[in-house]
Amino acid sequence: MDSISSVQDPSLRQIVVVGGGAGGLELATRLGNTVGKRGRAQVTLVDRRRAHLWKPKLHEIAAGSMDIASHELDYLAQSHWHHFRYKIGEMSGVDRDKQEVKVSAFIDDEGALVTPNRTIRYDTLVMAVGSQSNDFGTPGVNEFAMKLETPEHATRFNRRLVNALVRAHAQTEPLRPEQLQVAIIGAGATGVELAAELHRTTRQVIAYGLDRIDPEKDLKLNLIEAAPRVLPALPERLSQATDALLAQLGVQVHVNARVAEVMSNGVKLSDGRVIPAELIVWAAGVKAPDFLKEMSGLETNRINQLVVLPTLQTTRDPKIFAIGDCAACPWPEKKGFVPPRAQAAHQEASHMLGQINRIMAGRPLTPYRYRDFGSLVSLGEYSTVGNLMGGLIGGSLMIEGYFARMMYVSLYKMHELALHGPVKVTLETIARMLTRRTEPHVKLH
Ligand SMILES: Cc1cc2nc3c(=O)[nH]c(=O)nc-3n(C[C@H](O)[C@H](O)[C@H](O)COP(=O)(O)OP(=O)(O)OC[C@H]3O[C@@H](n4cnc5c(N)ncnc54)[C@H](O)[C@@H]3O)c2cc1C
Repeated sequence: MDSISSVQDPSLRQIVVVGGGAGGLELATRLGNTVGKRGRAQVTLVDRRRAHLWKPKLHEIAAGSMDIASHELDYLAQSHWHHFRYKIGEMSGVDRDKQEVKVSAFIDDEGALVTPNRTIRYDTLVMAVGSQSNDFGTPGVNEFAMKLETPEHATRFNRRLVNALVRAHAQTEPLRPEQLQVAIIGAGATGVELAAELHRTTRQVIAYGLDRIDPEKDLKLNLIEAAPRVLPALPERLSQATDALLAQLGVQVHVNARVAEVMSNGVKLSDGRVIPAELIVWAAGVKAPDFLKEMSGLETNRINQLVVLPTLQTTRDPKIFAIGDCAACPWPEKKGFVPPRAQAAHQEASHMLGQINRIMAGRPLTPYRYRDFGSLVSLGEYSTVGNLMGGLIGGSLMIEGYFARMMYVSLYKMHELALHGPVKVTLETIARMLTRRTEPHVKLH
């Protein structure tokens, strides 16, 4: 499951990018199109999956409003078209003395070995392994809650959701208290977007003929948040607008609600209340992958992110860089760190491309400055709310509705442009618009 040119050429600079997500795949593609194509360096991408999907689309797959097949991008094909090498497997560590990345054996779904344990040499290593949700050690999360970190998680959630609806429709006895009750833990952008999307798609699935379910009476969406308001990381005005929309949709919002335990049939809060639920999603908190913690003596913070200098170099090894969610990158204006967002991963990938060109030209590296363009939260087809910040308008402006929706869509378009270029993106956008009418509105995975 590797690209054809599997041998490293010792005469060429070896640039290794680990993680083909929002940041890493853009970087590998753009490096391949430039230094890789011109034979000035060999660019290698390592990812544990075979295909890329832009993570902000996961809630749409979970809710059934997006077809995974039309948005997933195969790494092997991308590497062929964009002149980089692709190695499948999970990175387990790094040997900094030998400048080698350690990659574990890749075993397929049926237990067969595809690629063995191996090492990949680097001159420049860019870590872009993203983040995962942080359950803060809450009992029951691993056993009873679903997460939304990978396409497999999202597909599994969708399957369970549809099965729950079909089961409820088919059964003759009354519904149990937890049946058709959904609990989403974490009212950040992921939780809010999922709640709005689920409200719409569950009604569409029911309309396919599951007429023994009354969505207004039988189905309940609970959004549980430990902070005093939804979207706690965003400006208060955004929370208020979102709260009003969720109330209109009948989503039950529980704020100041700390989860003490997740159980098989509901969520227990620290004040003793129990919220019955059949489908429980954990969408609170983020941390970088555990294997980064003290990896080969590199500096990490309390959520496992690699601490980097403004040049994006890790603090203890100038040959190792980190971008995206797995990097703790200073944000001096806010006296904090760049937030884990797709727009940050996109910007850092662009800056990293420049850094590699500077390294190859023997020029000094330049510091990265995060430009905050604001935040946008999609409430499905109901609305999009957001604020535009600093870099874009020189202040902060609250936006909502069609314009906000366009801005939200443009984030994904920027990612697609970095991966495919303008011609393909334009043609694909037209094709999607034309086929939308003939496709079913909800995907049942
Ligand atoms: C449901 C959801 C909705 C979101 N919505 C938004 C949004 O609306 N706006 C926004 O700005 N941000 C959003 N985000 C956050 C955004 O997705 C991330 O900030 C962004 O994807 C980070 O990019 P990245 O390149 O750092 O990592 P990722 O995109 O997560 O990519 C990491 C890659 O590394 C690979 N990988 C991980 N570990 C290893 C390993 N050990 N070895 C090999 N490969 C590995 C993974 O397979 C993956 O391909 C959302 C996130 C989620 C989960």
